[in-house]
Amino acid sequence: MKISVAGTGYVGLVTAVCLAENGNTVTCVDINEEKVKLLNNGVSPIYEPQLEELMWKNSDKITFVTEYSEAYKDSDVIIVAVGTPERKDGSANLQYINEVAKQIANTVIKDCVVAIKSTVPIGTNDKIEKIIKENLKHEVNIDVVSNPEFLAQGSAVKDTLEATRIVLGVESENAEKIMRDVYKNFDIPFVVTNRNSAEMIKYAANDFLALKVSYINEIANLCEIVGANIEDVSKGMGMDPRIGDKFLNAGIGYGGSCFPKDTKALHWLANYNDYEIKTIKATIDVNENQKIKLIKKARKYFNSFNGLTVAVLGLTFKPGTDDLREAPSLTNIPILLEDGAKINVWDPVGMDNFKKVFTDSVNYSSSIEEAITNADVCFIFTEWSDIKEFEIGKYVKLMNRPLVIDGRNCYDVEKVMNTDIIYESIGRKATIGIKETEKVQLKI
Ligand code: NAD
Repeated sequence: MKISVAGTGYVGLVTAVCLAENGNTVTCVDINEEKVKLLNNGVSPIYEPQLEELMWKNSDKITFVTEYSEAYKDSDVIIVAVGTPERKDGSANLQYINEVAKQIANTVIKDCVVAIKSTVPIGTNDKIEKIIKENLKHEVNIDVVSNPEFLAQGSAVKDTLEATRIVLGVESENAEKIMRDVYKNFDIPFVVTNRNSAEMIKYAANDFLALKVSYINEIANLCEIVGANIEDVSKGMGMDPRIGDKFLNAGIGYGGSCFPKDTKALHWLANYNDYEIKTIKATIDVNENQKIKLIKKARKYFNSFNGLTVAVLGLTFKPGTDDLREAPSLTNIPILLEDGAKINVWDPVGMDNFKKVFTDSVNYSSSIEEAITNADVCFIFTEWSDIKEFEIGKYVKLMNRPLVIDGRNCYDVEKVMNTDIIYESIGRKATIGIKETEKVQLKI
């Protein structure tokens, strides 16, 4: 079977590599020449555990090209994994996927299945089929299948090889048979439904996870007010199998390329159809507020950041990825800069991408120690293991004032209690070192 994949981003590249790992031969197409050049040199343009290793291992089964016509013309299956970013009004921008549909129509010379892996609003697969059929240059039969992706960045390879389910939204038996064949070497259960339902499964699943995050963050905010501890609350909730223990870590909100845009897109789609999904609206509002929670906490200690040295640990939207899309660092750092702070940042893999946006307005530190040295306050935005394992005593030793404001609850409050750091986290009581108590009350 000849398989092509359109788009070599987090989804397309991981899908292609995992299909190759399970015995398929795959041609990947991307319009980004730089990416394709890197890939042809055996370098993954994105950071994802195991990805580059598996790319090398299966290099005889994967080809990377920029010329789509060669790839699509005689493919049996074309998997589409291009971006569907957010438009200003919150709706999904379908320009890239529509473009691929036209490219497919222009080039295919034999019957094939087009599987849409990109996250698309309900009804989009029907529209893609229409675009392809209206623009076909040869008399061939095209089946469009919705095949949404559920991988998470940071564990994308594992999530694909050991996925919990493969969702297929099909309108013909032939398409179902071919798609089952694509995944025949994956030992993963199928959920087969129609295209609209498959598209909805993806949004409903993502938005439910985002809702869970916003819910626990609101509970955490109340815990701070009423003197409860969110970690114990999450543990007590998560042990109930009806709730489950995942996505119950309170923090400074969700980010990344999916939850923010997928919540807004579903909300937009509902509004467009004269319906309001109130839970999704609340999810979005809570998250917006949560993202700047650390700065609000810091204002207890400083009226202004002007002239202060601020250490920022963690730039990516979560650990295990170099992706900065919708990361809290992107919301908070401009506020701090505007207020006159001098900022030292550290992240194990995200700094190169960050440099593309904030060229020289912040200092890039090569270690956590370097970032916190002489800092007046340290913000933690991402729970990288290097940060979680960092010796707490070093904050006291190296910082100008050991004020640590942790948006990811990296440290055990009990442990911090006996040190001299002033420690603020999410949904747990603030801990103020004995020597610092007086200064905190005075507020500097
Ligand atoms: P991405 O931005 O990382 O990659 C998209 C790629 O498509 C880019 O490399 C771009 O150059 C390429 N592209 C654009 N137009 C093209 C064309 N005409 N032909 C070939 N390539 C083209 O995107 P991503 O994060 O991989 O997401 C892709 C889709 O999958 C989105 O709809 C997203 O919502 C969905 N998704 C993403 C994740 C995730 O964790 N990133 C998880 C599940 C689903």
